[in-house]
This record gives sequence, structure tokens and C-alpha cells, in this order.
Amino acid sequence: MVGNWKMYKTPTETKAFFDAFLPLVAESKHCEVAICPPFVNIPEAVAATRGTRVGVGAQNLYWKNEGAFTGEVSGPMIKATGAEWVIIGHSERRQFFGETGATVLERTKAALACGLKPIVCVGEMLEEREAGRTEAVLAEQVGGGHAQLDADSFAKVVIAYEPVWAIGTGKTATPDMAADAHRLLREMVTARFGAAMGAGVRILYGGSVKPDNVKSLMAQPEIDGALVGGASLEAGSFASIVNF
Ligand code: PEP
Repeated sequence: MVGNWKMYKTPTETKAFFDAFLPLVAESKHCEVAICPPFVNIPEAVAATRGTRVGVGAQNLYWKNEGAFTGEVSGPMIKATGAEWVIIGHSERRQFFGETGATVLERTKAALACGLKPIVCVGEMLEEREAGRTEAVLAEQVGGGHAQLDADSFAKVVIAYEPVWAIGTGKTATPDMAADAHRLLREMVTARFGAAMGAGVRILYGGSVKPDNVKSLMAQPEIDGALVGGASLEAGSFASIVNF
């Protein structure tokens, strides 16, 4: 269960979140848990979660290790903070910041090279779904991006299926819709890397996951976990999702 805080919270608010959140999830051992705050809050989050079962991730990284790239943050810099995860190719980055399959691939390679665990997001826009293009879009995003990794590298990638029309809109994909898309993604992985990888790849669902819909989504065997935006900002609500 991964929380994506997007561009919310200060370091002080980060500390307050973990003070409230950690006791609420101390007993639940059934899943991995991570929070991906804005870069500036990562040190606070790492300090707060040290010795707990909650991991910390970044929301992006640049693919060069260092250099004259004003405003960018590299994998080794993130890794040095103690963070373990990194979200790559979130739809907001694809829509507003020019992310493509090629840059997703570069970022994923860079994450793996420094030992960060990538969570690579894919998902169709509403007009693509309505035009019956969901499968084609997913195939393009996966095939044009991280599926170009070698098998050993791909095995370390977590995929997040996030239909863009469901992100931050309150419109969740039905459990069946989400499961259908996850099945398509597994078929693509199977076609590229074989049945064991297709069955084993971890696929999170993201898009308006809330305490009251998480159970029905997680009841789908195709769905391995959730990437949660809005509902991860409040300790009680994200704890309810973790403890579903
Ligand atoms: C996200 O940001 O990845 C996301 C799924 O957001 P929300 O849960 O708010 O729809």
C-alpha cells in the first residue's frame, strides 16, 4: 500500500502525520507500506519511520547521477536519504511534464542502478477508454517503456495501473474494470517475459482508492495493492486502507 502525497505537506506536517499514522499500522503485517512525500520531506519521513515497517519513496527522479540539471534530483541523492522506493511515470508527470515511455525507461534504469525500487505508473485517459483504446494505450506505455528492460531488471519493478479518469476525481474504476486492466497488463508481461513473470509481477491499482472501496478492490486476485493519492494524506484514512 503506497501513499503518493503529490505536492502536499511541509516537514512539520510530515512529522505530525507519522506521529499519528505509525501507531495505527503497527500491528498490521499483511502488506508492505510506503509513503512518497515531496522530496523536501523525505529526510523527515525517513527519520520518523526508522525501525518501523513503513518505507519511504520519492515521486520522481532524474536519470543522470549528477550534473548541470537545475531543479532535478538524482537516484543516488534519493537513495542517500534512506528512501527505498520511487514512483515513475505518474500520469500527472505524463500529462503536465512531458513524460514519455522513453523517459520512463531511463528513469527506471536509473532507479534500479542505485537500488531504488521503481513503481511505474500506466493508465489510459477517459477519451482513450471511451474510444476503446485502453489496451492499445497500456501496450504502448508498457512496451515503449519499462518492458524494454531485461528480465532480471523488470522483475524488480512494481506496476501501478492508474486510469487517469479515476485519479483525484472520486470516480473509482469498478473492481471488475480494474481487474480486467490488470489482466491485460499481466498478459503483456507474459508475452514479453514468460508466464512466471506475468503471474508474479506486482500490480497496484490507483485512482480514488478510499477506506470504503479498498476491500472490494483488494478482493480481486488480480490486484496486489493500491497506490493512494488523496486518501493517503490523512493518517486515519490511510491507516484504514492499510488495515483493510
Ligand atoms: C495518485 O495520485 O496516484 C492517485 C491515485 O490519486 P487519488 O487516490 O487521489 O485518485
